[in-house]
Amino acid sequence: MTRTEGIKVLCCNRRLNQFIKTLFKSCVTYLEAIWCCEELRDLVWIILVFYRINLVFHSSAMVKPRRKHIFNIYTGFYCSVIILPQICICSLFSTPPSDQFKKHPEAFPVATNREPFPWRELRLPSMVIPLHYDLFVHPNLTSLDFVASEKIEVLVRDATQFIILHSKDLEIMNAALHSEEDLRYRKPGKKLNVLSYPAHQQIALLVPETLMADLRYYVVIDFQAKLSDGFEGFYKSTYRTLDGETRTIAVTDFEPTEARTAFPCFDEPLFKANFSIKIRRERGHIALSNMPKIKTVELEGGLLEDHFETTVKMSTYLVAYIVCDFKSVSGTTTSGVKVSIYASPDKWSQTHYALEASLKLLAFYENYFDINYPLPKLDLVAIPDFGSGAMENWGLITYRETSLLFDPRTSSASDKLWVTRVIAHELAHQWFGNLVTMEWWNDIWLNEGFATYMELISVNATYPELQIDNYFLDVCFEVIKRDSLNSSHPISNEAKTPTQIHEMFDAVSYNKGACILNMLKDFLSEEKFQKGIIHYLKKFSFRNAKNDDLWSSLSNSCLEGDFTSGGFCYSDSKMTSNTLNFLGQNVEVKEMMTTWTLQKGIPLVVVNQEGHSLRLRQERFLKGVFKEDPSWRALQEGYLWHIPLTYSTSSSNGIHRYILKSKTDTLVLPEKTSWVKFNVDSNGYYIVHYEGHGWDQLITQLTQNHTLLRSKDRIDLIHDAFQLVSAGRLTLDKALDLTHYLQHETNVLAILKGLEYLESFYHMMERRNISDVTENLKHYLLRYFKPVIDAQSWSDEGSVWDRMLRTALLKLACHLNHAPCIRKATELFSQWMESNGKLNIPTDVLKIVYSVGAQTTTGWNSLLEHYELSVSGAEKNKILYALSTSKHQEKLMKLIELAMEGKVIKTQDLASLLHAIARNPKGQQLAWNFVRENWTHLLKKFDLGSFAMRFIISGTTSHFSSKDELQEVQLFFESLKAQGSHLDIFQIVLETIPKNIEWLEKNLPTLRTWLLVKI
Ligand SMILES: [Zn+2]
Repeated sequence: MTRTEGIKVLCCNRRLNQFIKTLFKSCVTYLEAIWCCEELRDLVWIILVFYRINLVFHSSAMVKPRRKHIFNIYTGFYCSVIILPQICICSLFSTPPSDQFKKHPEAFPVATNREPFPWRELRLPSMVIPLHYDLFVHPNLTSLDFVASEKIEVLVRDATQFIILHSKDLEIMNAALHSEEDLRYRKPGKKLNVLSYPAHQQIALLVPETLMADLRYYVVIDFQAKLSDGFEGFYKSTYRTLDGETRTIAVTDFEPTEARTAFPCFDEPLFKANFSIKIRRERGHIALSNMPKIKTVELEGGLLEDHFETTVKMSTYLVAYIVCDFKSVSGTTTSGVKVSIYASPDKWSQTHYALEASLKLLAFYENYFDINYPLPKLDLVAIPDFGSGAMENWGLITYRETSLLFDPRTSSASDKLWVTRVIAHELAHQWFGNLVTMEWWNDIWLNEGFATYMELISVNATYPELQIDNYFLDVCFEVIKRDSLNSSHPISNEAKTPTQIHEMFDAVSYNKGACILNMLKDFLSEEKFQKGIIHYLKKFSFRNAKNDDLWSSLSNSCLEGDFTSGGFCYSDSKMTSNTLNFLGQNVEVKEMMTTWTLQKGIPLVVVNQEGHSLRLRQERFLKGVFKEDPSWRALQEGYLWHIPLTYSTSSSNGIHRYILKSKTDTLVLPEKTSWVKFNVDSNGYYIVHYEGHGWDQLITQLTQNHTLLRSKDRIDLIHDAFQLVSAGRLTLDKALDLTHYLQHETNVLAILKGLEYLESFYHMMERRNISDVTENLKHYLLRYFKPVIDAQSWSDEGSVWDRMLRTALLKLACHLNHAPCIRKATELFSQWMESNGKLNIPTDVLKIVYSVGAQTTTGWNSLLEHYELSVSGAEKNKILYALSTSKHQEKLMKLIELAMEGKVIKTQDLASLLHAIARNPKGQQLAWNFVRENWTHLLKKFDLGSFAMRFIISGTTSHFSSKDELQEVQLFFESLKAQGSHLDIFQIVLETIPKNIEWLEKNLPTLRTWLLVKI
């Protein structure tokens, strides 16, 4: 808003309006662009201006004296009460930053050359915006560096004498500015003085004369840098061929803030622009980028230069390019999009499943979103070294090899589910994230929550046999662990620094985002939800959006009709665009959903059944904080959710709905019922506690005939019961009693869920060396699950979830030294050794066979040799896990050393390796000591806020359950803080360990007694 417009808003009287305009213009004449509030003389100027205008008015013969008097009062009031503060405010905020800088250079930071740096904010100013980048890059894969240049077309919104860009670790050789006229008449540009302020990863280009508002300019920069050694920016990755040759490729990974390490740019998601990219390469390589190649130009000296089509308008973090020697398979969708899967030549044969899946999923999304994929091609590339699972660069998606490649010989059922999910996730981003982008990283859940949620929708439709909705329950259960700690954060959360932005990529953004979307879909109906997101995507295509924009689109209740030019349509004229009519209640979607996005934590719904009435109460669910604790009340204050409840009862299996908006409420049932189950199919994001006889009634029903409850409800009950134990609402023996019905259970997921809790108790006891309970739990597990363990075949037969159950049960049985399991695994491993690793072992038991084999030195060494030679990432993961189960510490240490070196074991796998070693009772201390002693070395390999570092910290500490361990962790984190390193994960771990200690203190006696009774 300019100053003129700002004042216009205040005035409704036309004559007065005219007057104020005159006054304002006079103000501008006299005050120019100074800070009016800071010095008294400015106030004097304003009074003088008012006096001058008054004089003009009074000298007019057309105005009667009485009117003059009224006018005097009127204008006096306006000038002093409204205009003056307004001008002050306007001046304060609209004083051009260049002027602020000129007036107060001492208030600005100091650049590397000791000159004042003209910008002090972390966010870029909006007075100059990018329109188009011409980017040329020439990486040298031998000297491992690159030279590059760019021409950025910018539009100046407000006159300025500098341009601020992001740039990190780049050597700028030359920077020049061209006007449109310079380019038209081929005049030389003006050389720019470049200042650098590394603390904010920014450079300032100082222009010799003021850049004029509304004009376009062209910034030309030549720069160079080393290819990065890590996993971000423009980095090198290597792979070994079957002949043992090591080859190097160069690849980019920019999200969230690393594009600035590859080229100076406006590196914020809001600054969308078009990109025309040229890549120079050697003949033996290929170059890939977001768009298809237009042509290749042969250069003197044998080099080639690929020119790519200009991209659509997009954010910098989605730009990508790769120089490699990979091979591909391709196919075309019915809508004409060419899809290709790239991998290193020896892995080419593992690309076919990805091609089939991506063709299917792309076609599904085009249909579901009713928007065609806007680029002519889509490449999916398996990168040998990759920091995260995958990255959704528009048109050039990059994956960790194990997230894209599928090897029928070694990839298990769970690998297939993972690959399909990651492809579905990244393809969903081509719409959620790429086409419509969040305005700022605080709303990253709009990208990640949606992409995670769309995995469920798209895989369910394209691969129903994978039964992904079973898996989705765990997506929510997983984040509840995090969200029931006080150190959790709201989905939409402030993020300023690059480290804070990195930390936003966590379970809350991904999983909780997806779970609340699933809850909203269940509330709105599938059809309305889909219409709403189509509306949202169409309205904000090639633009940016925030939380509220989504709620406005989703609350549009039209089922039919068009969504014209971003307007709303109404199914009921009485409703506002944000209101839905729901069971006679008007529901504000935005009002409801902001209780889930702006508020951290998860609600606990407490149900108390008395005859026909159900007394309901909502609280904040907190793990390890008991109602009798002094802190409980304070932690509850201010929390209230609008919870779309669902329930079914023993007398009515239909789904009943009710919205709980207050702390307490009462529901009256039409008929008497023995039990009631809330959160039908676990679609809601809340935990339920049944007070009084509620749990007993449900346990009785499960024991008598569990099939009267829906299968997902049974899984949900197991989950909630153990969660309630950790919050002191239910005793452990009651939760354990509930699992007793599992011997009659046929639903794989329910068995897996029960097993998961029992197994986690076993591991806790084993790690703490509580031998009597460990032994008794082992006997109980083997006896209780014997029929189902013995029923397992050592094969890959059955549905995906039957196969998952087989892997889980046999893994447990062999871990517990169950003789038949060990016998069979040893036999298969011997055969495998005799065949020199050629024998095909069923993929679902591969990890188990290798783990048993790794317990002897010969077996361990053979596996490590085989690891080096294997070209299957899926197999390598299984071998590495097996190697990490060794009881010999020197072997475990050797693995860590190899992963640090990065040749035999890739450094990308260090985090999961440390996690696995820390889960091994013989390795837990080793892994933890290693992290403490090698912190600075680790930071050279991974960024502080990266997935890997966070996983390394939580993976090696969060299972601790003793006071000594807690003290060690506390001391270590304090020493890191003293060095200036801080991460949210420190707080999470420091909250988790005391809760583990408390759980053990409270529940160990109960567990011990319960086992004695049961075995
Ligand atoms: Zn994602």
